[in-house]
Amino acid sequence: MKQTFRGGVRLNEHKNTDHCMTVRLPSPKRVYIPLSQHIGAPCTPLVKPGDHVLRGQLIGEVGTGLGAPVHASISGTVVELRTRHNALGTVVTDVVIDNDFLDTPAETMHPASTPPETWTSEKIIAAVRDAGIAGMGGASFPTHAKMTSALGKVDTLLINCAECEPYITANHRLLLEDPMTVLRGTRLLVRALGLSSGTFVIEDNKQNAIDLLRILCDASFPELKVAAVRTKYPQGDERQLIYAVTKRELPSGKLPADIGCVVFNPATAAAAYRAVTGGMPLIARIVTVDGDCVKEPKNLLVPIGTPFRDLVDACGGLIKEPKSLISGGPMMGAAQWNPDEPVTKGTNAILVLSADATKPYAGEHECIRCGRCVGACPMHLMPNYIAAYTKRGDYESAKEYGAMNCVECGSCSYICPADVPIVQYVRRAKNALRQKKA
Ligand code: SF4
Ligand code: SF4
Repeated sequence: MKQTFRGGVRLNEHKNTDHCMTVRLPSPKRVYIPLSQHIGAPCTPLVKPGDHVLRGQLIGEVGTGLGAPVHASISGTVVELRTRHNALGTVVTDVVIDNDFLDTPAETMHPASTPPETWTSEKIIAAVRDAGIAGMGGASFPTHAKMTSALGKVDTLLINCAECEPYITANHRLLLEDPMTVLRGTRLLVRALGLSSGTFVIEDNKQNAIDLLRILCDASFPELKVAAVRTKYPQGDERQLIYAVTKRELPSGKLPADIGCVVFNPATAAAAYRAVTGGMPLIARIVTVDGDCVKEPKNLLVPIGTPFRDLVDACGGLIKEPKSLISGGPMMGAAQWNPDEPVTKGTNAILVLSADATKPYAGEHECIRCGRCVGACPMHLMPNYIAAYTKRGDYESAKEYGAMNCVECGSCSYICPADVPIVQYVRRAKNALRQKKA
């Protein structure tokens, strides 16, 4: 099926933290560091209860398969290896560490003895791997594996700064507050991949970031440039982003590298720079804490493994009865039932919303064939047909209409006047088709 990427929707922005400086979260009393925070196999723990660990110390390692190691985000004592179900129903093990508040760094965290400009591609990729860097936009694909698979295959590097969901401003603030680290990290990625240039892709509602990066690129980073793209949802989806800049279409089931592109998050680029120049593992990240229940919404710099509850407390607590706790944005984020769920490498936002801020679901009505979902779909599907066939249990017809190509952006459900839960129907069709294939 041909994809033309005409769809997308304009969402209400609700970016309460757009103008607030990022604040460092006070060191938490206890962290819960999941051994699985990435796509691939979970790590094997290298520590046991009673062990003392240093900040940045390796505490979980992967075997030969896909994965990224994990490190202690604070110094202290391991009190437990806790196994639990996360919000997606997956069994995960957390390394629970009690803080000694000494903040003692591991010996491996020290400045590089040679300048990064002299490093080979293999050495840069190895440093990224050892630092446990996984995509910080939410998907958490191990970055060294993405770099390795792109080597010799891609001609275009894009830095995805299109933070297109309402509320989330973590990357926008990073670009404004620490642009040099992002730019230097992107220069390293360009070098490591043997490319001659890289492009920051920024939505046109972030004009201050566009202007700042253009000035800095012109002054000191001639190999880097900035592309401003239209503000719409889901512009941050890799397929949309690549098409917006290169006009290359990513066929279903293919990876960006298959069409010559590789895409990284700006926070990932910054983490790569810190890993190479300072041996710094990925042990902290910026998280947007927002929603109408939060007293003082903020962007916080948070140690990995900090419970969500600590972040909300650092924002002054709640001022309304919460109805939903969401990890991520309101369109593609995951609803949480446990306020003590820990921040992971892929957690870009935590939202606490009241009943006033969430649309009450009064039940599904009959489709009125208005076609709005068709116009909104960025994958140029016919979501109304997929939903209708799925309702009848006719999954093969849903597949014919492209159910497997759906990126689950939720634009169709958002815009549907009949409140048809279209994404849920698409997911049901996908699951049924996958089970049939297995
Ligand atoms: S959720 Fe899927 S079907 Fe609906 S608009 Fe997004 S890509 Fe299209
Ligand atoms: S938007 Fe809703 S009502 Fe309109 S065609 Fe699509 S499913 Fe039907």
